[in-house]
Amino acid sequence: MKKGNWYNKGLKFQCQGSGKCCISRGEYGYVYLDKNDRINMAKFFKLRLGEFTKKYCVSNEGYYRLKTSPHELECLFLKDNKCSIYSARPTQCRTWPFWPEVLQAKTWKKEVAQFCPGVGKGKLYTRKEIEAIAHEQNLSELLMDKEPLPKINT
Ligand code: SF4
Repeated sequence: MKKGNWYNKGLKFQCQGSGKCCISRGEYGYVYLDKNDRINMAKFFKLRLGEFTKKYCVSNEGYYRLKTSPHELECLFLKDNKCSIYSARPTQCRTWPFWPEVLQAKTWKKEVAQFCPGVGKGKLYTRKEIEAIAHEQNLSELLMDKEPLPKINT
């Protein structure tokens, strides 16, 4: 992650419940899951890990991701514009919008602030908090890289 100074004074963010980040938008369209994400979600549904994975995941370019709705636009768990598994939502959803790849001034402005109505509102996250969240997302991605991926479906 670049250590630019542009967010030294922190960034404001408060989810406005728009559901926009749960709907496919090109390269950020899928929800990728590390093993801990799948374990937590399996517990939420009272399923075994394998059962959860088979029912709700597909493998995509070497990683697990959530299946999408039949028309391939929104997350299966988005109900009435709200996350129906909020307490067990995966890392990628919890760490939005402080993903390492968007923590650059230009990208933030173009791809996050213009897209997400929660940016600039509510809680002021300090630089330290922002980087801790981005680090959590990084660790999740590293975990995905290390996980051997059996082919389940495509
Ligand atoms: S798991 Fe929940 S927060 Fe994440 S994309 Fe799906 S509906 Fe949205």
